[in-house]
Amino acid sequence: AAKGDGRGVHRFYADEMLEGARTRQRLESDLREALAQGSFHLAYQPIVATGDARIVGYEALLRWTHPTRGAVSPAEFVPIAEECGLIEPLGEWVLRTACREAARWPGGVRVAVNVSPIQFANRRLPDLVASALAHAGLAPDRLELEITEGVFLDGSTDTDQMFKALKGLGIRLALDDFGTGYSSLGYLRTAPIDKIKIDQSFVRGTAQPGNRNAAIVRAIVTLADTLGMETTAEGVEHQDEIALLADLGCSHIQGFVYGQPANADDALAQLSARRGYATASGFRVSRAPR
Ligand code: C2E
Ligand code: MG
Ligand code: MG
Ligand code: MG
Repeated sequence: AAKGDGRGVHRFYADEMLEGARTRQRLESDLREALAQGSFHLAYQPIVATGDARIVGYEALLRWTHPTRGAVSPAEFVPIAEECGLIEPLGEWVLRTACREAARWPGGVRVAVNVSPIQFANRRLPDLVASALAHAGLAPDRLELEITEGVFLDGSTDTDQMFKALKGLGIRLALDDFGTGYSSLGYLRTAPIDKIKIDQSFVRGTAQPGNRNAAIVRAIVTLADTLGMETTAEGVEHQDEIALLADLGCSHIQGFVYGQPANADDALAQLSARRGYATASGFRVSRAPR
């Protein structure tokens, strides 16, 4: 639209919004079809102990290969699934699949599963979790649910009930993307969180001199330590960040430096080939298939 032409500019945005709405609508119906046809899979990314580089678990990340668009990011389709009511069946598929695939991993290697606030608000979630564990034959302490600060936003007392019920199953809870939400810290007084995942926006650049993120990471780690919680630094891409994050006290590291998310068979092969230990390699810019 021409500059200064108010109506033109308006029309330009209207067209763009319509275009966006159409893409969205299209994605929504494609999502329904994908769920029915089973065109999702999970990719697993190692979570590594800072002390000895042992792989303590993997985070399950949802992947969708669209028939014409190729790989669509969960950052794009999860919010759509949340809005159109598909996140519950999709989330159930993720939970059951992750438990089943993780049951084949050796030792106490855990699996972490992302749970949407919409799933967390559903009273049937604990039953679903119990059923997924039982069907897979997975010990409860090998499952970690990743929730976000979003679950505290509605401030309902049901949140406490949900925490009790989930912890009662013997599973672990991690707080994802810590520090990026809009909720207060008050919930940390009572919520039975086992681990805080420090968002990658705070991890980025910690190794650069004068970068203020290091101070933020240190403060989060101090808080977590005091409350008896573990800490995972997310999105670690560079080898020099590993030692620094260890110095700052992070108990775990996750990121491309230790591996791209890979399918369940590759994760299993990786576990046995390296006897459960990870090796750091600098993040390659050429994008490996995720
Ligand atoms: P998240 O749970 O915080 O997952 C971490 C994201 O960071 C993943 O993106 C992962 O691929 C990416 N990542 C890992 N290491 C690095 C790194 O070194 N550098 C960079 N730049 N990124 C890294 P992904 O797989 O695209 O997922 C995006 C978000 O989508 C997730 O963030 C999570 O919020 C959501 N999501 C993924 N799978 C599920 C699911 O099964 N259920 C729900 N409700 N949400 C999911
Ligand atoms: Mg996560
Ligand atoms: Mg995260
Ligand atoms: Mg995230």
